[in-house]
Amino acid sequence: MKTVISAKEIEELIARGGDLDAATKDAILTPSAKDALRDYSNSRRGFGGIASASPPARPLNSKSLKAELEAYFNSPHARALKEQLCEVGRRLWQRAYVDGNGGNIAIRAGEDIALCTPTLVSKGFMKPEDMCLVDFEGNQLCGSKKRTSEILMHLQIMKRQPKAVATCHCHPPYSTGFAVAGLAPPTCMIPEYEVFASVAVAPYRTPGTPEMGQLVADLADKHNTILMANHGVVSWSHNNVEDAYFKMEILEAYCRTVLVAAQLGKPPNTFTPAQLQDLLKIKQSLGIPDPRHGLKECELCDNDQWRPGVACAAPGKPEASAGYDAEAEAAVQAITDQILAQMK
Ligand SMILES: [Zn+2]
Repeated sequence: MKTVISAKEIEELIARGGDLDAATKDAILTPSAKDALRDYSNSRRGFGGIASASPPARPLNSKSLKAELEAYFNSPHARALKEQLCEVGRRLWQRAYVDGNGGNIAIRAGEDIALCTPTLVSKGFMKPEDMCLVDFEGNQLCGSKKRTSEILMHLQIMKRQPKAVATCHCHPPYSTGFAVAGLAPPTCMIPEYEVFASVAVAPYRTPGTPEMGQLVADLADKHNTILMANHGVVSWSHNNVEDAYFKMEILEAYCRTVLVAAQLGKPPNTFTPAQLQDLLKIKQSLGIPDPRHGLKECELCDNDQWRPGVACAAPGKPEASAGYDAEAEAAVQAITDQILAQMK
């Protein structure tokens, strides 16, 4: 006769680390036991339904033995990270954030090693076995396909920003439009953009060169999303690779929205400095960098580039302020001159 397993028995099995597969194989599960089992297996899965696995007990580095690196590269932990790279690649392609074989993604896998996507493969159709393991100089350590040609930029971000656990690069059209114009999108319009992204523009250099990586890495201290002029966007996350990808969704949606708002014939409204300060407090509590952290409210209106008819909520300077300043300066100069003359 088959045994019947209750939810309570499932919970006890989980608590003592028992073999769930063996215990439930030929048993009849009560409806609540089925629910308990499903909840448990869902809780063990990361994003995209990818099973998580424990990292190696001793973190590896580029000096680890070749056999150790190979063993890690074929371990369940590395497998889970490779599947995450494939899943993010699929999302980038489905959203048309990449074109041809463009775009690349990397995940820190040890002290100075990273898993990354291969070159010349569409991000929409990658397999876990296509992935590569590299050291922080870009030398390939494992993997049969050649690593992406743009890996140096990802590694330079990871080297300069120890908090960066994952990086993502792609060419989303609206964001790349701003990058082609050399403009960071105007700020103070949508909460998600203010809280989750800190955007800057890096000048153009040939993709894949150390100079390009250097320019991006220089900005990674205060910014987690960098527009690369005439090229695309790269982001990093202190959480995981899905979070690095989310920066792309947030930036791209924002750039589209700003362009729509700019065409409506009514100046877009912006946050007041107090409203922005509240968002920056949330951002700081989440550990997300922003060059505006610590600024006073009166200093927060930072966007002096493209402002598509934006009606800034911050009280502007009085029109005559420039003239007034010049007059005041002249008066101070006259008094100083008089005092100096009297002292002669
Ligand atoms: Zn690119």
